[in-house]
Amino acid sequence: MLQVLEGQTLVGMELPDLQQLLGPEQPTYRARQLYDALYRKQVANLSDICTLSQGFKKQLLTKFAIGLPGVEKRFDSSDGTRRYLLRLEDNRTIEAVLMPEPGRDTICISSQVGCPVDCKFCLTALMGLERNLTAGEIVGQVLCIAHDNGLKATASQVNVVLMGMGEPLLNLENVLKANRLLTDPDGIGISQKRITVSTSGIVPKMEELGRAAVRPKLAISLNASTEEQRRKLMPITRKYHLADLMAACKAYPLRPWEKLTFEYVLLKGINDSDHDAKRVVRLVAHLNCKVNLIGLNPGPGIPYETPDPERIASFQGIIRRSVPCFIRKPRGRDIFAACGQLKRVASDIVRIT
Ligand code: SAH
Ligand code: SF4
Repeated sequence: MLQVLEGQTLVGMELPDLQQLLGPEQPTYRARQLYDALYRKQVANLSDICTLSQGFKKQLLTKFAIGLPGVEKRFDSSDGTRRYLLRLEDNRTIEAVLMPEPGRDTICISSQVGCPVDCKFCLTALMGLERNLTAGEIVGQVLCIAHDNGLKATASQVNVVLMGMGEPLLNLENVLKANRLLTDPDGIGISQKRITVSTSGIVPKMEELGRAAVRPKLAISLNASTEEQRRKLMPITRKYHLADLMAACKAYPLRPWEKLTFEYVLLKGINDSDHDAKRVVRLVAHLNCKVNLIGLNPGPGIPYETPDPERIASFQGIIRRSVPCFIRKPRGRDIFAACGQLKRVASDIVRIT
């Protein structure tokens, strides 16, 4: 008899979960076959699994579905970026983005429906938090997009970034489970070096992440050069002060191949001066890190502007003297797919440039 585990679909289950689901009557290799079909072969339908007997498949089909999110809408940008509006089982929708580049495809996925953090420059913040995503819904975004684009999620050219909707460290348990599934060499098998989680700075959860045996790389959204500025832009700073955030970064246990990434959204006249750049250097120069600068992606209801390219270049020049520093090229702005623009726009393509 199959055990029905309340509210669970197959994607998101690790091997012990599948063993429990199948129960003691089934031979142990059955769970492995199912795991292999779900994650290594990445079948889109249970009926496509050819290693399972017809009878057993029928039994599974009556109770379970693989449970990948459905593609509700797909928006194609002129730069090749694809934004997906994905429908979950409870009919809520989330967004994920594919950014193809020669030799590398980056899939940007969500960790929550909405976000509770309330950063003043971010469109997702305007939604508030609706709920956390399950591990299956996090992994499902990668499998769904890979499938839709004829990519194999295992391929060495797939990178995953948890930089879509939501604050991943406020859903850490499910994010870690999803990360184990994404990196398991017997399953999807994406390298740990190719998955990055980005946080607004949930200090105690950074410590917890650092203790996890299998974990993604860490990026920190710094976005300000002083405590006061950060408080205004990112209210989470009232709870987790900048000094404590930097101390957590210093204490973070990096693996030999790893660097911290700091992300810094540049807002015209707010946090983009040369003084800011010098203060950022003072904050991060003693760490093994790099800095990614992101010119604000504007949006309705966001009361800030993007700095001029010369200002951004000057800011980069100052940081680059001490720390590797890159300007992140905006992707898919014309379809609201760029950073901080992932707010569900159910209507059609909205042009903002
Ligand atoms: N919640 C996490 C991850 C999702 S946000 C975090 O904040 O880190 C991913 C990145 O987009 C963050 O670095 C965030 O600072 C940035 N971002 C948010 N709104 C933006 C905007 N309007 N323009 C450019 N980047 C933005
Ligand atoms: Fe949430 Fe990140 Fe947007 Fe801040 S920037 S509101 S943490 S998604």
